[in-house]
Amino acid sequence: MSKDSILVINCGSSSLKFAVINPATEEETINGIAERMGSSEALIRWKIAGQKGSKDLGQAAHEEAISALMDVLKQENLIESISAIGHRVVHGGETFTESCLVTDEVLAAIEDTIKLAPLHNPANLTGIHACQKIFPGLPNAVVFDTAFHQSMPAEAYLYPVPYSLYKEQGVRRYGFHGTSYRYIGQTTADMLGMDINDSCILVAHLGNGASACAIKNGKSIDTTMGLTPLEGLVMGTRSGDVDPNLFSYLNKTLGYSLDETTDMLNKKSGLLGLSEMDSDCRVIEDAAAEGNERAQLTLDVFSHVLAEKLAGFAAALGRIDALVFTGGIGENSATLRKQVIERLSIFGFKLNEQLNEETFRGKSGVITEEGSTVAMVVATNEELMISRDTQALTA
Ligand code: ADP
Repeated sequence: MSKDSILVINCGSSSLKFAVINPATEEETINGIAERMGSSEALIRWKIAGQKGSKDLGQAAHEEAISALMDVLKQENLIESISAIGHRVVHGGETFTESCLVTDEVLAAIEDTIKLAPLHNPANLTGIHACQKIFPGLPNAVVFDTAFHQSMPAEAYLYPVPYSLYKEQGVRRYGFHGTSYRYIGQTTADMLGMDINDSCILVAHLGNGASACAIKNGKSIDTTMGLTPLEGLVMGTRSGDVDPNLFSYLNKTLGYSLDETTDMLNKKSGLLGLSEMDSDCRVIEDAAAEGNERAQLTLDVFSHVLAEKLAGFAAALGRIDALVFTGGIGENSATLRKQVIERLSIFGFKLNEQLNEETFRGKSGVITEEGSTVAMVVATNEELMISRDTQALTA
């Protein structure tokens, strides 16, 4: 068997997603997830050629889960095909402006970034260490969520707080979802037959976490997420932008501690907090369609905030060649796309209702009328981007 495939690993604190991708065909041979790691109900599930498999892992943590993944790859006769491993790393701080091969220096620099992503980077590092141990001899590469946004100008990444906080503590906007934006930028330019070096693309990546990005000539010039992935748009359970004085207000009125307000803004806000129903957009859309006013209001706040951010980004771009929707909500919710596009009609968007309704579940394409400013759906593929980078770094 030829060694022609990349193992892509996305290691979180309690789950590990994986895929094996052949860079030549760009097809996934297998994908799956090890979940509930660290609990007594850890489980690994996978899908290969339409067939599903699963195995209980008992009390497995990261290393045991990667060992189990190794067993699955052996069992499916894929182990010999893997030439390198590509890891998603959430935060690269200002050190990493692009993907790179793992070395001791790179690992130390990712360690240094832990204070900026205390929940994510340690899990990402654990995954890399476990792979080095369990797959000795295979090169590892790292692909950062923040790297694509390192091209932002200082006027877009600085917060108007004392400058020393930026210089001494790294307080600035970093932005996330960068791997998705890089993929969408390239794919959109290809689909529209545009030169990426002369392109102005607005992207809304709307999943459980949601952000928007202004991409000029293939480079990020602004994005909505900030020092952490809490800033910006309304998300599943995250508030996005609120008045920062909320912390002191809730402390004085309700006695909330810093941790309690942080927890509320990250886990009990957004679609869930406003609707008091669910963080899943589908549940809220169904309720709104049945006449539930709170559900409709929740969708209205979501699209109001998104449209305002996109309008601001349009000003920064100077022109709009395309507005792209992606992520679980962006790729599937015709309702929210319609609301947002109608709010942006000042930019010359005219929705094609039929195309909008027909574009979902991984389908990509234009959803506006001929002669309109282009709005489209592009299904994102972060794993493919990680495999492309890993292949390029190890070829
Ligand atoms: P993540 O940020 O975790 O990667 P995804 O990009 O998978 O999330 O998006 C998940 C979200 O997509 C879900 O919370 C759900 O609200 C939304 N979603 C999926 N399908 C639909 C649909 N048909 N209509 C509206 N929203 C949808």
